Amino acid sequence: MTLLDGLATSRQIKTEIALSVEKLVREGGRPPHLAAVLVGDDGASLTYVTSKVKSCEEVGFRSSLIRKDDSVSEAELLELIAQLNSNDELDGYIIQLPLPKHVDEKKVLLAIDPRKDVDGFHPENVGRMVLGLPCYLPATPGGIIELLRRYQVPTEGMHCVVIGRSHIVGLPMSILMQRNTIPGNCTVTITHSKTKGLDELCRQADIIVAALGRPEFLKGDMVKEGAVIIDVGITRVPDSTKKSGFRLLGDVEFSSVSPKCSFITPVPGGVGPMTIVTLLQNTLQARLGK
Ligand code: NAP
Repeated sequence: MTLLDGLATSRQIKTEIALSVEKLVREGGRPPHLAAVLVGDDGASLTYVTSKVKSCEEVGFRSSLIRKDDSVSEAELLELIAQLNSNDELDGYIIQLPLPKHVDEKKVLLAIDPRKDVDGFHPENVGRMVLGLPCYLPATPGGIIELLRRYQVPTEGMHCVVIGRSHIVGLPMSILMQRNTIPGNCTVTITHSKTKGLDELCRQADIIVAALGRPEFLKGDMVKEGAVIIDVGITRVPDSTKKSGFRLLGDVEFSSVSPKCSFITPVPGGVGPMTIVTLLQNTLQARLGK
């Protein structure tokens, strides 16, 4: 079994990005600049945004964290987005989801200039991804593809079962795995909470991408010998032995699944760090594309 080490791979990619930034600055250019908008004070969202901002600093990017109170109106957010869109000193930005219930998430995402949509959520970028045109890949699926590519995990002709159909993970992941590319060329089954016979589908899979947000859902008896397992899930479960009061669990029961598989991502240290570097890669692409 080979551990798909997202942490080590992300460090390597960060070094490569930092070298590109150094070259850009040496030649008189401005470093890439990423902004993150965080609404409210949800602990997990704050952790994610803080680590994205910290990663920007590590590679020499400029970063801005824009915090808004939970009570921010939709109109105020749209005004902020208009300002970010017209700011020539800003290459890309992300709106950390979820947004408060009184804000229409779709309306907000549609307002983002697709050229600055480094999260790859705007319909223009999604459509480009589907058609195989240049675009910003959504960060989590993009990071998984990069991890598979760097470890040269064979995917051609394989049966890939994706568990989950969210717009940010499961759905784009299924599209990327079926493309005529390397990695890619899989026969893909996308599944969700209404899928019948999921256990049997998983047992037939050569590659499983578990992205459902149910801790330790995928057990050893649902996996065939030699399968490749990508664990996207991150759930905070209470743990009084930890200083933080919680620990992170993936969607895969590592103890029973890992002995059976050929490759597996750990949680933490697998998909999470790869998600962040993909965001950095997209921001560099936004800067260099100018
Ligand atoms: P989401 O929007 O809640 O979507 C979950 C998907 O899983 C839905 O499509 C749902 O089906 C499906 N599902 C739920 N229970 C199921 C079951 N018992 N059997 C089969 N399918 C089931 O979640 P998400 O945003 O995609 O995130 C999924 C997980 O990945 C979460 O733990 C999240 O924290 C984590 N995540 C990690 C990263 C990272 O960087 N590592 C990034 C993003 C998300 P329906 O559509 O029928 O409801």
